[in-house]
Amino acid sequence: MRISAHARSIQPSLTLQVAARAAKLRAEGVDVISFGAGEPDFDTPAHIKRAAEAALERGETKYTQVAGTPELREAVAAELSRAHGLRLGVENVIVSVGAKHSLFNLFLALLDPGDEVVIPAPCWVSYPEIVTLVGGTPVILETRAEEGYRIDERRLGEVVSHRTRAIVLCSPSNPTGALYDERTLVGVARVVRERGGPDTFVVTDDIYRRLVYRGEWSSMARVAPELLGRLAFVDGVSKTYAMTGWRIGYCAAPAELIEAMAKLQGQSTTNPASVSQAAALAALTGPQEPVEEMRREFDRRRRTMVSRLREIPDVAVHEPAGAFYAFPDLRAYLGARLPDRDTVIEDDLALAQYVLDQARVAIVPGSGCLAPGFERLSYATSMSNVEEGLRRFATALGALRR
Ligand code: PMP
Ligand code: GLU
Repeated sequence: MRISAHARSIQPSLTLQVAARAAKLRAEGVDVISFGAGEPDFDTPAHIKRAAEAALERGETKYTQVAGTPELREAVAAELSRAHGLRLGVENVIVSVGAKHSLFNLFLALLDPGDEVVIPAPCWVSYPEIVTLVGGTPVILETRAEEGYRIDERRLGEVVSHRTRAIVLCSPSNPTGALYDERTLVGVARVVRERGGPDTFVVTDDIYRRLVYRGEWSSMARVAPELLGRLAFVDGVSKTYAMTGWRIGYCAAPAELIEAMAKLQGQSTTNPASVSQAAALAALTGPQEPVEEMRREFDRRRRTMVSRLREIPDVAVHEPAGAFYAFPDLRAYLGARLPDRDTVIEDDLALAQYVLDQARVAIVPGSGCLAPGFERLSYATSMSNVEEGLRRFATALGALRR
């Protein structure tokens, strides 16, 4: 069958593929531990579920306004105004079907063919694909584990030009867990001013903003208020409130850009699900204690995962400051041979496959995040899974002939 060049131009989501592979094995009765998809294992807090039930009872089962209900947009504007030290109105906010959809609409509204988007790597699997899909050109900026994945201002300056329509920052980062401090953001803002064009945007993906364990999250808007007309913030409830399946994300940006995104959304998905919007409203306006409880538990798992990884010979891991991923460097294991055969583990994809086959542990190969030789392990799973999974992982690596 002929499939469009558009569809052929992108890779499938590796994170979702790994998750599907793990789910399939589990359905077949295999005892697989998944460090794959970044998805909190916690249930959505009870008060949020009750708000969704109440919305159903009230008959909120119809289309809403395309950009979201006025109540939810108001709540998002209030929440993001607090986070970024701004005075955002509903006209600055659009609610979409997850933060991934927000990013999709945002790049669709921003990019013309050939417009460049600078993406610091290692990066989340979907950024380069979304940019490519909407006709933009991803420009990858290398960041290094030994530099704490900081953005080097000089190297950034070499790739930013008038052709740059946006720079995407994800802090804390998926997959590295790195957090950009104020100095880094000041440096990025300087490069945008000095080397970018008049409409070079900074897009911050703040989806993990409330899952920080070391240091403090900083907002680009606070650090560089002079860029205000060229900032877009992507955020959502998936990670913070354990609401991945509800599919609610949002974006705050200048009103004109939001209007363009709403036009695109109005011709594609229409509004996000009405009941999910009611749930998201309860998440943002209700008690925040569950967020802190989950954050604390993630932190315990993070410490355990990182220390277990560091006990494995020749595995290096930069300590993640936020999100829920560890991103170990496993290059020392490439070129190793399987225990009972002569097959060589050539790359991180083969290593992830070996770990799945041998240890029944699902992990995401770093190549998907443009970091070959690395593997991503999510600790958004129970402490007993973290402990058992790491035991199996270490045993599997130990069985390789290096
Ligand atoms: N950005 C990053 C960095 C992510 O890790 C995710 C997780 N899927 C998303 C955006 C999208 O989240 P969602 O679509 O579930 O809101
Ligand atoms: N963001 C999560 C991850 O990176 C969920 C899957 C996805 O949307 O990519 O694993």
